Parts: sequence; structure tokens; C-alpha cells
Amino acid sequence: MNDSNAATPAAIPSAESGGEGLRHTSNFLRDIIAEDVRNKTFGDAAIQTRFPPEPNGYLHIGHAKAICIDFGLADEFGGKTNLRFDDTNPEKEEQEYVDSIQKDVRWLGFEWERLCYASDYFPQLFEWALQLIRSGYAYVDDLTAEEIRQYRGTLTEPGRDSPYRNRAIHENLDLFVRMKAGEFPDGSRVLRAKIDMASPNMNMRDPVMYRILHATHHRTGDEWCIYPMYDFAHGQSDSIEHVTHSMCTLEFADHQPLYRWYIEQLGIFPSQQIEFDRLNLTYTLLSKRKLLQLVEEKRVNAWDDPRMPTLSGIRRRGFTPEAIRAFCAAIGATRTNGITDLEMLEHFQRDDLNRRARRAMAVLHPLKLVIDNYPADKVEFVDVANNPEDPAAGTRQAPFSRELYIEQDDFREVPPPKYYRLSPGKEVRLRSAYFVTAQSVVKAADGSLVEVHCTYDPLSRGGNSPDGRKVKSTMHWVSAAHAISAEIRLYDKLFSKPDPYDFAEGGDIFDNLNPHSLEVLTGAKLEPSLAAANLDDRYQFERVGYFCLDPDSTPGHLVFNRTLALKDTWAKIEKKTGKEPGT
Ligand code: ATP
Ligand code: MG
Repeated sequence: MNDSNAATPAAIPSAESGGEGLRHTSNFLRDIIAEDVRNKTFGDAAIQTRFPPEPNGYLHIGHAKAICIDFGLADEFGGKTNLRFDDTNPEKEEQEYVDSIQKDVRWLGFEWERLCYASDYFPQLFEWALQLIRSGYAYVDDLTAEEIRQYRGTLTEPGRDSPYRNRAIHENLDLFVRMKAGEFPDGSRVLRAKIDMASPNMNMRDPVMYRILHATHHRTGDEWCIYPMYDFAHGQSDSIEHVTHSMCTLEFADHQPLYRWYIEQLGIFPSQQIEFDRLNLTYTLLSKRKLLQLVEEKRVNAWDDPRMPTLSGIRRRGFTPEAIRAFCAAIGATRTNGITDLEMLEHFQRDDLNRRARRAMAVLHPLKLVIDNYPADKVEFVDVANNPEDPAAGTRQAPFSRELYIEQDDFREVPPPKYYRLSPGKEVRLRSAYFVTAQSVVKAADGSLVEVHCTYDPLSRGGNSPDGRKVKSTMHWVSAAHAISAEIRLYDKLFSKPDPYDFAEGGDIFDNLNPHSLEVLTGAKLEPSLAAANLDDRYQFERVGYFCLDPDSTPGHLVFNRTLALKDTWAKIEKKTGKEPGT
């Protein structure tokens, strides 16, 4: 997988610098802003940016990149950022999305200067439309949508003028006002800008400014039955807010001439649009429309299903804002679209969790281990480090007793070659507790393993060798009498192909869903300290992976989500290619 984005930064910052926005990576957007500041392109006006989501779905990791750019760069230059809802499509927009978007932006660690809505500008946009009609730059067209498409021409053929293009100004004014008054049915007329039907840029061939739509808007209700098109709303909204740098993704590059045209014709604040590359991630869908389909078709449980690339999904999965910001800083921004390896995002998340996550012992597939020479009624509390990477995290006490649980994978009655964990006659260390040697097994009538019996060396307390003898393995464990039971949800990639759009003819994207993206374990045994886990806590279950509590948990039924397994494939890729991750 070629990672054109990741290759650019000279130094890839680790999550440690995650709070620092994009400061560590050079990117062309920063250079443009710096130059505008130097040249006083906007006079003494402060740098102003905006993040302009359409409230038609939940934000995803691609939006996180845009948010880090919009907020991060403004912040770097002492400027401000508005959160603006681009709500000009009443049929697809909902208050639920408006609320979730605000929550997600704040969760990522950013605070907006002003909360704005394009719909607040509907009266002003209407006035500007009248202004363009009066100056002869807009007309009401009675062609149907299909006719307009035909008249528009193609990339190789110029378009043709609509028969309504030269309507008198007073007639256009009358019709447009009546469109607004609700006199005409949906789709019967549109208002178009009068620009150039032969322009090589299709967007300039008399683009539609307003359409008739008798739909209830989530904020303006039934006040309007004409709605501005994206292009007639976006630039002017920027201008109203005195946005200096309107950064958006590359698919809007062809719209830039139109963005400028409206601003110039209206003679309003000269906001400028700059395009950067959209984030694409392997194994991941980043389109609200497609993500909505996953939710509606119940392929996932909800927008915040931990397998979703939505910010609410990855938050529930256990991802942290620090890691996401560090990742966004590392990928920077370029002028060509590429594909970034999902492993790179995961690498930044592991890096952050490795530093911060409290360690805990959890046995996902329990096997009973009985210490024959340990007193039956005795309980000891052993000191376990909360984070070996961070001595300041301190230690906690874990109860130890005669009957423990270990992972089924940590015992083999007949060990394969190079198997260093427990097997009959072999000695291993139980983390922070004692050395134990397996002695015998108890089996059920069907031959399945029921429990393993062992002996311990009392002189190895704390897991320290009493006489310099070595063991090759250190295993986690929990005391059977003290363990708490929990449900564990093991998550994996939602799609099984790096490019989810790579499906056979006649198939669809959902053919590539990974059937093993969720595995639920019901019998896990956890150390008792985990009963006090909070939703914001992050854990490394030693030797198993990174986990966090799921909101489905109740006091009697804890549910933990696996954020990520321990192994870091991206770090390996980087090693192979000579690139240093996390330095
Ligand atoms: P989607 O196709 O997922 O709905 P969108 O571009 O329609 O995405 P908007 O709500 O219009 O979503 O986007 C808000 C801002 O986020 C825009 O400036 C857009 O360019 C940016 N954005 C959206 N997706 C990405 C992405 N994958 N990478 C970077 N920026 C993105
Ligand atoms: Mg959109």
C-alpha cells in the first residue's frame, strides 16, 4: 500500500505532541497563510477560518483532518474559527446531527469562536440574489432539470442558451419573488446565474442558484420554499463571517472560479478558497452517505458502533483526541489525493495508549490454575505497576490466592517447539507474584482440559528469581475468587479489503464487509480493580491489547471494547521502509 500522505512529513510527531496541532509538519496551507499575513492581504484583519459541515450525518475521521486544519492553523496565527453548519439541504439534515457534530468537535479538543448556520443567512442570500437579477446577472429558468442538463453541453461541447436566458429583469424579479412566495411547485423553475454557457468549466455554465423545494427545514421550518445551492451559499457565508482562508477538499477546486465570481459580482468581503487533499484510509469508508447506509441497513449497530470510522464510533472504541490530532499533524496537507494506511492511525493510537493506559490483568479465555502447595484460605496482595512506561502512575494491589485463571493459550499439555509458556514440568513467572511449575492436569470425561495443577516457589515473591534462575515467560493471571466477569467485544476492521470499493461486477461495497469485525466473549475474568473503571479510562490488558469500558455496561454486567490489539504492524512497515515511526 503506497502511502503518499505519510511520506511527506520530515519528522513524524508522536502523540506526545498531539496537542500542538499541525505545528510540527510543514504544509502548504500554513505557507499560504503565513504569506498573506506578511503581505497583509486582508489588511489588519485577523485570520478567520471556519469548519463547515453539512448536518446530514456524523463526523468521521476525514472531518477530523479538516477540523485540525481549520482550527489548528487559525490558532497558530492567532486567528479564530467558526463552526458553521452548511444547512441548505433541508431533506437530509437533522438536529441530531447538529448536536453530534458539536460534541465531536469539542471532544477533539477545539472550541469555536461563533456557532453559525448558513440558514441564518437565507434572508441576506435572497437579497443578494435580487441584486444579481437587477444587475442582469441572474435569471429565472423554466426548463426542467433534465432539459437544463441537456442544454449544459459536455466537456467537449459548449452548452446552449436557455430560451429563458434573456428574460427581462422585471420579469425575473417578479418570478423569483413569486418562487419565494410559494406560487410554484417543486422543480418547476430555478434561478440561474448568467455567466457563460461556453465556459470550459461546467460549473460556470449558468449554474443554478436557487431551487424550489417545499420541505421543512430543521431550523427555519416552513419559512422558505426556495433554497440556495451549495455554491451560492458557501462563499457568501464565508464572506459574511469575514473568513480569510476557506479551506476545503480538492473536489471543490472546480468550484473555485464560481466561488470568486459571486463574491466579485456582489462586491463583498474577499474570502479565498484553498483546496487540500481529502483523507482516504485503507479498509475504511469515508462518506457520510455510505456510512448512513451502513446504519440504516443495520450492517452496524449505530453511528457510534465502535467499528465505524465516525468520531463517535472511534471514541467509543477507545481512540483518544490526542492520538487523532497527532495523526492529523503527521499526515499534514497536500495538493494531491492519496491513500493513507489505516495502520498509521492505529500506530499513533498505540503510541498514545502505550504511554497513558493503565495496565490491568484480564483473562479473556480462562483456564483454572490451582497451586497445590499454596494454603487454601490464604490471600495475598501483590504490588503491580500501573504503567511500566510511567513510574509516576504508581502501583496497585492485586489479590493472589490458591486458585487463579490464566489464558488457555498459556498452557500446552504437549508444548510445540519454542513454546515457552506453561507446560508440565516447566516453570514460568506469574506477573509480580511468584514462579510456578506445572505438575498435572485434570480432564473431563470427554478429554477436555478442566484445570492445571502447579506448585509455587514461596521465595520468588514479587516475581523475583530467588537464586538467579531464569524463566522464559511471564504470564498474567487473576485470582479466581476475586475475579469479576465481563463481556469483551473484540473489534477488527469493518472491511476486509484495503479498498472497500474494489468489488466484483454486479456486487456492492458491502460484499467487502469483514464477517469477523466483531467477536463477543462472554466468559472473561478480570482483576477486581476493573470494577471501578470509568468510560474515560484507558487500559492495556497486559499481553492482550488496549481496552476501554463500553457505555452498554451496567454495574452487574461490565462490557469492555478492544480498541486495538498490541501488535503494531505500521511500525514494522516503517522499519522495513526505513521510515521511523513516532520519532
Ligand atoms: P461526506 O462525503 O463524508 O459527506 P462532505 O465533504 O460532504 O463529506 P461536509 O460535511 O460537507 O462533508 O464536510 C465538512 C468539511 O469537511 C468540508 O470542508 C470537507 O471538505 C471536509 N471533509 C470531508 N471529508 C473529508 C475527508 N475525508 N478528508 C478531509 N476533509 C474532509
Ligand atoms: Mg457534503
